[in-house]
Amino acid sequence: MKTRAALLREVGQPLVIEEVELAEPQAGEVLVRIVAAGVCHSDLHYMKGEWPIPKPAVLGHEGAGIVERVGPGVTRVKPGDHCVLIFRPNCGYCDYCTIGRPTLCTGRISAPGTMYDGTTRLSSGGQPVYHLARVACFAEHAVLPEEQLLPIPKAIPLDRAALVGCAVMTGVGAATNTVSVEPGSAVVVIGCGGVGLNVVQGARMLNAAQIIAVDLLDNKLEYALDFGATHTINAREEDAVARVKEITGHGADYAFDAIGSARTVQQAFEMVKIGGTAIEVGIAPQGQMAQIDAWALAMQEKTLKGSFYGSARPRVDMLRLLELYQQGRLKLDELISRTYTLDQINEGFDLLQSGSVARGVIMME
Ligand SMILES: [Zn+2]
Ligand SMILES: [Zn+2]
Repeated sequence: MKTRAALLREVGQPLVIEEVELAEPQAGEVLVRIVAAGVCHSDLHYMKGEWPIPKPAVLGHEGAGIVERVGPGVTRVKPGDHCVLIFRPNCGYCDYCTIGRPTLCTGRISAPGTMYDGTTRLSSGGQPVYHLARVACFAEHAVLPEEQLLPIPKAIPLDRAALVGCAVMTGVGAATNTVSVEPGSAVVVIGCGGVGLNVVQGARMLNAAQIIAVDLLDNKLEYALDFGATHTINAREEDAVARVKEITGHGADYAFDAIGSARTVQQAFEMVKIGGTAIEVGIAPQGQMAQIDAWALAMQEKTLKGSFYGSARPRVDMLRLLELYQQGRLKLDELISRTYTLDQINEGFDLLQSGSVARGVIMME
C-alpha cells in the first residue's frame, strides 16, 4: 500500500513529506493507522546527525494508533485495538528481562532502521526507507512488531496516550522507577520540556517537598509550576547550582538532568547534597564526555545514575499511568500545547527548538 510519511533524507535538512510504499505486515508484525505522534528531542538528534541512522528514514517514536491488519502468527493484538507504541521492545527471556529491567533487553535487536529480519517494510522507488526504532510513526501508517504495541482502553484519547509512549514514561519513570523519590525530599529538575515536566509531576506524585525546576526560558518555568514545581530558577539569570544550595540548605536529594549534555549532568552532580543522587535522563550526543568531581563521588558518597525510558516495565507502567490520567491524578491534557498536521511537521520541530511548547503533537487526520 501507499502511505504519506515525513522522510529524513539528509542530515541538517527539513523533513520531506512524500508518498512511500509500505509492505504488508510479515510474521509477528502489525499494520497500524497512526493517529497521533509526539514531536520529541530524540527525533531532532537524528535530524541533526548527533545520533546515527541510515537514510532515508521515517522518524517518530512517540505515538499511538489503531490496528488495521495483523500478519501471520500475531496473537496479542487484533484489528480495531487502540495502542500506544513502545519504542523499546523486550523479549521476556534475556538476562535483563528476567531480572526485571526490560528497557535494557538485549534479546530483540535489529540492524539500525530495519525490522528483525534485517529488511524494511518502507520503500521509495524500489529503495529501502528505514524505520526509526521499528516504530516510524511520522507517517499515516506504520508496520511494527506486535511486542511494540500496547493495547489500551478506547476511552483514552490517542493524542494523550501517544505521550505515554515516550515523554511521560521517561519522565515519571525516572522519579518512580530509576530512583524512588521519598516523601519530603528535595528534587531538582534541569530542563522543563516534555520529559522534564514529567519528572516534575512524578516528583509531585511522590510528595517531594521541594521541586526546583531549572530552565533558560520563563515560559517553560511557568509550565513547571503548573506541573507541581515549588521553586523555579532561570539559569540564564542566576547561578543554578548556588541557588539550589540556597533553597535546599545543603543541596538536593535528587537532581534529574532532562537535557542530556556534559554541562547539565555536571551541574546535576554538583546540585546534590552529600549522599545525594544525580540522574541523567536526557540523552546526550554520542561521544560527549562529562567531567565529574571524582573526589566527591567517593568522599561524599554521591551517586550518578542513568535512566533510560524511565526504567520502564512498559506493559505494567504505561497502563498504570493511563489509569492515573483517567482518575485525574496525572496531567496529560496540559502537556499538549500545540497540534500540527503531518505537513506542518517542520514547524513543530522549529517550535520545539525555540522552546515555546511543552509538547507538540502531530495529528494524522
Ligand atoms: Zn522521545
Ligand atoms: Zn529481553
